[in-house]
Amino acid sequence: MQFLKDIFHIFFPNLCVHCSIPLVTGEKFLCLECNHQVVPIPYDEYHQKMLQSTFYGSAVIEQISSYMYFRKATPSQSLIHALKYRGQEAIGTWLAKRVVKQLQEQHLFESVTAVMPVPLHSRRLKERGYNQVTAFGTVLARTLGVVYLTKVLKRVSTRSSQTILKRFERFSNSDTLFTCEEHALLRDAHILLVDDVITTGATLLNCCEQLYKVGVRKISICTMAYTPKE
Ligand SMILES: [Zn+2]
Repeated sequence: MQFLKDIFHIFFPNLCVHCSIPLVTGEKFLCLECNHQVVPIPYDEYHQKMLQSTFYGSAVIEQISSYMYFRKATPSQSLIHALKYRGQEAIGTWLAKRVVKQLQEQHLFESVTAVMPVPLHSRRLKERGYNQVTAFGTVLARTLGVVYLTKVLKRVSTRSSQTILKRFERFSNSDTLFTCEEHALLRDAHILLVDDVITTGATLLNCCEQLYKVGVRKISICTMAYTPKE
């Protein structure tokens, strides 16, 4: 059923990505009612602790921001699904604009020197045609006035390359691992890592490990959504 719904939405893009009713002027991606069900995460001490708790004891994260709670069968899941699987790449820009507001109000990520996306595996990138965080990340980089750095951090599938696996340490709980090239823009840098959803944090942690290895000094994180712990 999900497959048929996805096909339907490709032919009729002007429907609410969650409840499929036609959108009216002024509505984008979500109808008014579904939009009200999106729960933004405020930037304050309590929510910083909640987001930071994913990384406690594993990596030091300078600042962290996630736009909304990610919950199954809610508009937040439909937004991410449409962005990843229905070609609705512009959802990334739309979410970034909402984040920019918070970023400017709270003076977030002001000392960041470059924005980097969590990379997709090259095979996945070919299938999808785009990295779902590119639009999101480039808007943030432009707003902060810094470079959007791609290609230095790479994803290597543990299943597809046993040889490469032997050459790099494997991250304990993760199915993938990353490699990072040395780069002048990474030395003593403050990197803002961007991703779609924080779930276990393992992917982001793996990226952090690689970045610290090549001389990055500080890392902050900004994602579209965060899966709350039950
Ligand atoms: Zn709706």
